[in-house]
Amino acid sequence: MVEFSEPVSATGGCLCGAIRFALHGPLPAVGMCHCSKCRRVSGAASNAILNVRAERFEWLAGETHWREFRTPSNWGSFFCPTCGSPTPHRLSDGKRVLVPAGTLDEDPGPRVLGHIFVGSKASWDLIGDDAPQFDETPEAPK
Ligand SMILES: [Zn+2]
Ligand SMILES: [Zn+2]
Repeated sequence: MVEFSEPVSATGGCLCGAIRFALHGPLPAVGMCHCSKCRRVSGAASNAILNVRAERFEWLAGETHWREFRTPSNWGSFFCPTCGSPTPHRLSDGKRVLVPAGTLDEDPGPRVLGHIFVGSKASWDLIGDDAPQFDETPEAPK
């Protein structure tokens, strides 16, 4: 059993409840990705993600229930095979977990950190906050 040094700050899960998780300690702000792949996997204007440290993420149920789909370019989509909800997944370096913000049970308070791939957002996508916007990512060479 993993020991968590900080209390649970949020819980979440998929639509059917097969997948449940908890986040410990301070929550990061939400990153919004407006790229065409994120639009497809979310079915929405953008994919809202919390990038959390792996030691702050705890599976409560369904740790082996989720499935993944990879495109030929190795871009991954992670989802519950029962209900189709997007699910958290650990990045390949093992140090961070990407958590779909919309799967949190309640609004735990984080705000939007920024918007990426705004250069390819849908024409009907009107960004309504004043968080920074990037055509691609902040690191991408122009
Ligand atoms: Zn589910
Ligand atoms: Zn994206």
